[in-house]
Amino acid sequence: MIKAKIRAQHTDTNLRSYEQTCKSFSWSDVKKMFTWHGTGKINIVHEAIDRWADDPARQGRTALIFEKAGEVRTYSYLELKKISCQWANLLLKYGFKTGDRLFIFLPSCPEAYFVMLACARLGVLFCPLFSTLSFDELEDRLENAEPRGILTHPDLSEDLPCEAMKGVEHIFLTQGPLPGLFPGEVLLQELSDKMPAQFSPRWFPGNTPLYLLYTSGSTGPPKGVVHAHHDMLGHLVTARFVLDLREESILWTDCEPAWVTGTVYGAFGPWLCGAASVVQGDPFSASNWYRTLEKHQVSVWYTTPGTIRRLIEAGEDLAGRYDFSHLRHISAVGDAMAPELIYWIKKNLKLSPHDTWWMTETGMICLANFPCMDIKPGSMGKPVPGIEAAVIDEKGKPLPDLTMGELALKLGWPSMMTDIWQDKKRYQEYFSPEGWFLTGDMVIKDEDGYFYHQGRIDDLIKAGVKLIGPYEIERALYRHPAVGEAAVISRSAKPGESFLKAFITTNKGFSPSARLNREIRAFVKANLSSDIALREIAFLEEIPKTRSGKLLRRVLRARELGLPVGDPLKMK
Ligand code: ATP
Ligand code: MG
Repeated sequence: MIKAKIRAQHTDTNLRSYEQTCKSFSWSDVKKMFTWHGTGKINIVHEAIDRWADDPARQGRTALIFEKAGEVRTYSYLELKKISCQWANLLLKYGFKTGDRLFIFLPSCPEAYFVMLACARLGVLFCPLFSTLSFDELEDRLENAEPRGILTHPDLSEDLPCEAMKGVEHIFLTQGPLPGLFPGEVLLQELSDKMPAQFSPRWFPGNTPLYLLYTSGSTGPPKGVVHAHHDMLGHLVTARFVLDLREESILWTDCEPAWVTGTVYGAFGPWLCGAASVVQGDPFSASNWYRTLEKHQVSVWYTTPGTIRRLIEAGEDLAGRYDFSHLRHISAVGDAMAPELIYWIKKNLKLSPHDTWWMTETGMICLANFPCMDIKPGSMGKPVPGIEAAVIDEKGKPLPDLTMGELALKLGWPSMMTDIWQDKKRYQEYFSPEGWFLTGDMVIKDEDGYFYHQGRIDDLIKAGVKLIGPYEIERALYRHPAVGEAAVISRSAKPGESFLKAFITTNKGFSPSARLNREIRAFVKANLSSDIALREIAFLEEIPKTRSGKLLRRVLRARELGLPVGDPLKMK
């Protein structure tokens, strides 16, 4: 297990002592931080927006900073309250009721956030979708969620599958189409301005659904995960303890709301802390990302290992041209973070990125490297206070340290999903009779309580007599300077057979060749135990990924075995 440590760089943080906080922590104490702890009747918008907007000392503080094509739009807490009340009145006018669904089919834009808040005011489930979804993927989601309305842009509305939209009563457009509107289309721009800016708060039981989000589809067809208003307990604790947010913080979570990270930590997490959230509407380029950090004086950045890799590809010179002096903390999520990424960012941005782990289903960060804690590169850190995590075997029995098993979380944290939309059976499959939530991820815990991701159960590989996760081999590959990205699969068709194959991309300055292939294979052999034999390496231009940037090993495996790949992100 990894012995190297990066000493904690922060001392003055929201979480000062991990051990002590874990001992004294209780979710019922967190409840007391909210106005509803006595009544049990809640609304997340009241806590995230109205509480600040109604306070004369805080209402003018910036809540949202949106940038696109050089234009910056900022919104204070008071403005977000007014606009989202107007939008809630508009939805009410068009007949939306508690429990209805509204799709947000848009690229990142302020309107997506306005409508999320408006829906929450009314108890309507909002469902953000990637604006790059294919026709089939949209059709699946429409048939599954049966939304009453869709908020979109005229260019995107052309791609909507009419056949699957029988239940859709309204298509709200953020901009005017030319030449005119079709029946059922509503132009929002001016309408929302005319709506009253007051909306009496609606109070719901805590488990009232807040949003519906489809998982990334890395291991199988995406699932429609439902989350409730009481998730705010977990949002607040993790935004404070893991991201270290305070009222004066400027957080940039560079993920769209269609991925759960963008919804929870691009909106509710920072707003519950009274902080500002930056949203970048332009596509990725390394210079644009560095410029965003510099220009908006971002203090906390929540990103992904995939984004860090793309920054590394752009080279060290570029990073050196920007001023990151306002940045005080970096966290990442989504995929395993190779130690090399940590070292590169530490060298070039003078801060270590802190890996975190969670799932759409968990609704909040569950394992993390906390700012106050030493980082062990390659580890996802330790459970968030209030989360009990264990490594269990197939029978649900906890395993000793340093043994690979499934990561399981003890039921009882408040942000856990409340349902899989229209699929009770799938929902039940997440839980073991012993009261564990089964994550489907394989991990190892070391003697100090740090967890190490090994891969998903479905990605496990038979190497000799033992089962290993693909990450063990990928980590060795990443240590070779030519390797950009790596995904390892087992391409054996018969049980018991061991045939490991790696797919890699090359870093700038290296070209695929038979010689490089042999060299990398020899390098991996020298760096791994002898019973793990990597038989083949194939160079790829690009490794297939989900829209949230995760490696799609199942697509590589299907291609290798000649199985149908189809549209991997379709739901069935
Ligand atoms: P699907 O459930 O549809 O197959 P998905 O699991 O990728 O897709 P998400 O909910 O977006 O959908 O991702 C959660 C998963 O992401 C986790 O189960 C885990 O496998 C992976 N993950 C998240 N954070 C980390 C991390 N820090 N290190 C390694 N893997 C991570
Ligand atoms: Mg998953």
